[in-house]
Parts: sequence; C-alpha cells; structure tokens
Amino acid sequence: MKKDALLTEEKTLDPQDWSALNELGHRMLDDLFHYLETVRQRAVYTKPPTAAIASTEEALPEMPQDAAAVYKDFFSNVLPYNTNNIHPRFWAWVQGGGTPFGMLADMLASGMNANVSIGDNMPMHVEKQVINWSKEIMGFPATASGLLLSGASLANITALVVARHFANREIKTKGLQAVRGPLTIYGSSETHNCVLKGVEVIGIGSDHFRKVPVDENYRIRIDILKRMLIEDRAAGYIPFCIVGNAGTVNTGAIDPLDELAAIARKEKLWLHVDGAFGAIPRLLPEFADRLKGLELADSLSFDFHKWMYVNYEAACVLIRDPQLHREAFASAVNYLTLHERGLSAGPDSLNNYGMELSRGFKALKIWMSLKHHGLESYRALIRQNLQQAQYLAELIQLRPGLELMAPVPLNIVCFRYDPGHCTDKELNALNREILMRLHEQGIAAPSYTVLNGRYAIRAAITNHRSRFVDFELLVNEIVRIGNELTQSS
Ligand SMILES: *Cc1c(COP(=O)(O)O)cnc(C)c1O
Repeated sequence: MKKDALLTEEKTLDPQDWSALNELGHRMLDDLFHYLETVRQRAVYTKPPTAAIASTEEALPEMPQDAAAVYKDFFSNVLPYNTNNIHPRFWAWVQGGGTPFGMLADMLASGMNANVSIGDNMPMHVEKQVINWSKEIMGFPATASGLLLSGASLANITALVVARHFANREIKTKGLQAVRGPLTIYGSSETHNCVLKGVEVIGIGSDHFRKVPVDENYRIRIDILKRMLIEDRAAGYIPFCIVGNAGTVNTGAIDPLDELAAIARKEKLWLHVDGAFGAIPRLLPEFADRLKGLELADSLSFDFHKWMYVNYEAACVLIRDPQLHREAFASAVNYLTLHERGLSAGPDSLNNYGMELSRGFKALKIWMSLKHHGLESYRALIRQNLQQAQYLAELIQLRPGLELMAPVPLNIVCFRYDPGHCTDKELNALNREILMRLHEQGIAAPSYTVLNGRYAIRAAITNHRSRFVDFELLVNEIVRIGNELTQSS
C-alpha cells in the first residue's frame, strides 16, 4: 500500500465524534447518580430474568455497535440485577457498599489508565502515601513496607510468601526440598478459607495448616496451640508461622493477638494477622484494648473494600521487615532496572513486592476517599455499624421465636428462628428456607453460616447506608416468614 492510503486508513479506538461520547458519558454519570441515590427504594435482590441472561450469551461481536446501544444493553440487562451490596439492607458475607465519590475516583483512575508498577510518576507516589497512612492506622513502624492488592485473599498469600522466605531463604531458589522437614503453620479453626488456599498454593499443603480449636467465644485456644507446637517439633515438623484472626468471618471473634505475638517471638515464628475487616476498628480508641498486639504482627492484611467502604477492589498487606519483603519477591530483570533519570527513574518497582507486574491505580480511590471523608467520618460509621450489631442482637434476644447463636464482639450477628418445638435438623432446613424467601422477596440480604452443626442466619454489618430501622424490619420479617412456614405445615 502507498503511504497516502495508509494515512487515510489509520485507525484508533478513540471516538470519531468526541462530543457525542462525551454526552453519552454525562448521561451515564446522571444515571449512576440516580441509581445510587434511589437504591433504598429498590429490592435488595432481584433474580436476573432469562432475557437478561440471554443478553450475555450472544455471539462474539464481529462488527462495531453503537456506543449508546451497548450502554442501553448494560442499563437494562446488567445494572438492575446487581449483587446489590450497595443496598442499605445488604449484610451478606462481608461486603462493603462503596461510595459515590469512590465511583468518581475510579473513573478518574480509569481515565488515566495508569499502570502502577514502575517509574517516576505520581500514581506511584499516591500508592506510597496510602501505604504510609495504612501503617499509621495499624500502628506499624514507618519503616515497614506494604502493597495494595485486590483483596485480603491475595494480601494473605503475599504475606505467607514472605513468611515462607523467613522460614528458609533457600526455598525461593531450591523449592521446599531445601527444608529438612514439613513446614507447619498454625491458626484457629475459624481462620478464613483463603488462608488455607494460600497455604496450598505456596506448597506448604493444607494438611500442614494446624487448625487450633477455639473457646466458647470462637477465639484460638492458646494452651492447645502451645501444646501443638511442642508435639509437632518433637515429631520432626518445622513450625514457621502463626496466623491470628482480627475478626473471624463467622462471628467476628478477635484472637488474643498480644498473646500470639508473645508466643511467636519466643518460638521465633512469623506472626501474620488476617484483619480483613476486623483490623479496621483500630481507628477507634475504645477498641485499642481488644486489638492489642495487632501492631506487633510481622505482617497484616486488611481490606479497604469491606469496612472502609471503598469501591471494589482494594486491600492492603503490610510487612514489618521491608528487606525480607523485597527479597521474597524481587528478581533482577534487564527490562525493569531503574535508571538515574527519566521515566524509568524513581521509586523501587512495586513488582519487587508482590506477584503482579501490571497493576491498576487502586490507590486513587482510597487516597481521595480518605481525604474527602476524613478519619472522623469513618470512625463515626464504624461505631454506627458496631452499635447496629448490638442493637440487632438485643432485638433478637428480646423477641420470642428468635435465638442469638454466638457472642457479638464486632459487627457480625448469628441467629436463627426457633419456634421452640423443632429439632436442630428441622431448624436447619427451616432457617435455610427463611433466608431464601427473605432474599427472593427482596426484603433483606443477610447470609448464613453453620456453627457447631447448626445453621445460622448471619448479618455482617459493613454498610454505611444501613439505618437502625432496617434491623427492626429484618427481625420482623424473619419472624413473619418463620411463622408462615411453621403454621402452614
Ligand atoms: C473477606 C475475608 C477474607 C478475604 O478477603 P477478600 O477481600 O474477599 O479477598 C479473608 N479473611 C477474612 C476474615 C475475611 O472476612
């Protein structure tokens, strides 16, 4: 082809008509603001209809489609059938609700399309600022290192890799063959499943995750942990790490972290704390005592997208020893070495601290949200959620036909409907049915767990939109559905 022909046929994905796309963009923004502002008026759950699902089973698009038509498809088929963790009565699993300002920050980050990995650019500095603030919130020394990740799952694995490096620096090159016996890791039986997955992925093997039993408050039994360490050592195992829980996923239990820190120090073990949501109340002075020892951990993971209400995805890992952190992940590669000046100068490349090379600009929404709302707003909201959990627990205890099933040390409430004449097995089936109806009727979205073989309806309150009346409605509706079910049978 001649150069002239090439020039006239040059392509780009930028719009041909910038102002038309700009106009569509403004409409999207208007629609999203309306959507967020009116969220309370809609059902907490709506099952995606067949037509909506069919819209995601189309043939691979060969030809271009109009931007407005694609948006319309999103608007009518995707948006209305959200997970809806933005709803004021969404308390399932542990999910945050995001904020309108976070949405805008995400748009800015996407517009910049920064790859926050290497180079002397402001996104790198913004992430560093967020990590420094995180250290301050969690009481980690200013010299510690850290990294933003998609979620606590990845943050936990990142910490475990550093813990493994601490156990034996030869594993990095020689593999686990470098170790003279099986490495073992310890955590309560309530430890989140993602830690077990991490232990599998990094080659330790989940059989070597020693599940330490818990007491009646679902906290790790320190006496049994100590005994297990002695027995394992005598049997030729090599303990290397303890995982403490700051807020277990089932009931919000907080392990005695200061005692775990003391054992770890004495036994020369790594202490990792999974504080996915339960580390966040460290912002509250009245919680200092219950989270005592958190700041002594060798590593800590927590989510911004749960109890800091930051839009998905945003989590953080902090590592006390920055050299060890870097050593565990760094490798010298020609195309990633820093230069004295220019684009490739600047802060240490972030891929020396984790598995990801390409990384989005998660830091922006955290940085902007913290600045805009200020810690005072977060403190007030975290307190509000804690009070709501206590309020819900009281409503349950006062209400005949409802049973509180676990202590409420944090923001998680486990309970069940119990008309008083059923076996545990019947109650399990009954409460499961109540939960499904509660969702189907779009009323409220707690989730569930099983405590000592008993099915529990479980509300995890990391929701800045919930009001106290929402919990009254929850309790009333559960009793209503329960009564309907037991009276009709
Ligand atoms: C949610 C949670 C995780 C996993 O975090 P993600 O952000 O979902 O990856 C780990 N531990 C606990 C205690 C959690 O609640």
